[in-house]
Amino acid sequence: MKHSYDIVIIGGGMVGATIACALGGSQLHVGVVEPVAALRSFPEEFDNRVSAITRATQNVFVNLGAWDGMAARRVQPYREMRVWDAGGNGAIHFDCTELGEPNLGHIIENRVILAALLDRMAQFDNIDFLCPAEAQGMHLGDERAELYLADGRTLHAKLLIGTDGSSSWVREQSGIDTTGWAYDQSAVVCTVKTSKSHRDTAWQRFLPEGPLAFLPLPHGYSSIVWSTGHERAGELCAMPASQFLDELQLALTGTIPGAGLAGSLRLPRFAPGETFGDALGRMETVGPRAAFALRLQHADHYVRPRLALAGNAAHTLHPLAGQGLNIGIADAVELAEVLLAGGRDPGRLSLLRRYERARKGDNIAMLAAMDGFKRLFSNRSTPLAWLRNGGLNVTNRVAPIKHFFMRRALGLGGELPRLARAPRS
Ligand SMILES: Cc1cc2nc3c(=O)[nH]c(=O)nc-3n(C[C@H](O)[C@H](O)[C@H](O)COP(=O)(O)OP(=O)(O)OC[C@H]3O[C@@H](n4cnc5c(N)ncnc54)[C@H](O)[C@@H]3O)c2cc1C
Repeated sequence: MKHSYDIVIIGGGMVGATIACALGGSQLHVGVVEPVAALRSFPEEFDNRVSAITRATQNVFVNLGAWDGMAARRVQPYREMRVWDAGGNGAIHFDCTELGEPNLGHIIENRVILAALLDRMAQFDNIDFLCPAEAQGMHLGDERAELYLADGRTLHAKLLIGTDGSSSWVREQSGIDTTGWAYDQSAVVCTVKTSKSHRDTAWQRFLPEGPLAFLPLPHGYSSIVWSTGHERAGELCAMPASQFLDELQLALTGTIPGAGLAGSLRLPRFAPGETFGDALGRMETVGPRAAFALRLQHADHYVRPRLALAGNAAHTLHPLAGQGLNIGIADAVELAEVLLAGGRDPGRLSLLRRYERARKGDNIAMLAAMDGFKRLFSNRSTPLAWLRNGGLNVTNRVAPIKHFFMRRALGLGGELPRLARAPRS
């Protein structure tokens, strides 16, 4: 049994499904191969995997016709962001009203993003979703590529796209090496309820062991991303819920030994008499916890003749600023736009190189920036602590610098692919 496509996408996660939607309705015949059937029903409990998405990513979802499916399920806008350093008095406060924007972005459960993209994908006649289906072998020829599935089917295509995540099988099969390193941290994720409202604000405290973020969800819940040493992460996942809530409270509000006067007495204040940490009140309930080992990883090449990589298959970074999916979505739309403009053979190297040139520099800059922040904030040296606290406070006070960072946080800095620009009303 044989099937012929123009393009086969291997990995129907959020990035792969975005590429498929962007190619929807075109002349290109596209297959999407995904081994895991996504959850399509929505239990009341929140998924502990969520993503902070930028305005640019939201624009992509709106332009592709997938946003309404997300909004109809569950999305939470955040209007403010408060970041502070546990090792000093440095703090920064972003407020969307300073830029005349309705919000700074949205927090959305990953399963909500994926379900809405898959619903949209199903509306296009030129897209076949092969799920569950598992790739077992591949061959990149001069004129076409072949993909061998575990159920015996062979798919022929002019181009294979690997969007199969950080441990990409496609990347490995095509002999593309990666550069990077494992961090000394895992991220513990879970959903908590706090006694005070999150005020539509994303809160992040930089602790010496790693950042602790509270991302707002509907109905007063918050999604936690707590980066810490691997052993400690394992303990935090295994301990009883009540003990975890106490530890979380301490991590958010406690003073840091060795941070001296700056760390203990001069905590940034949210309102008179109330420090940032106190602003969320008591930690009341916690859902299931999970931990993810963190790493930086970058594919040495994004393309080969008849092959392209996108999303986490091409790059993985520290989640401290919630950028991994956002840059993956930027890959997705850039690649789709190049392919749509590329004529009859979407697998030729000269065409694919346009995509690589457009994305690689931006992605490397983002990976380097996140790696730099990770190192700067994990460092206990006193001069560095003064420097970063001073840097945070200066950025907070000097409007042009602050607005530059806010526009970057919205994903609106630099040249944007057409699909990431604001939709015409
Ligand atoms: C703790 C944490 C918090 C994060 N928070 C944010 C955030 O706030 N904002 C943000 O932008 N990013 C965030 N990220 C990053 C974000 O989750 C990833 O960048 C994003 O999931 C990458 O999407 P993807 O589609 O490239 O890969 P994945 O989501 O990994 O999807 C890969 C898909 O490929 C499939 N697959 C795997 N192997 C095969 C195979 N052999 N054949 C076919 N299919 C296969 C999988 O089943 C899956 O569906 C966070 C990451 C972590 C760890």
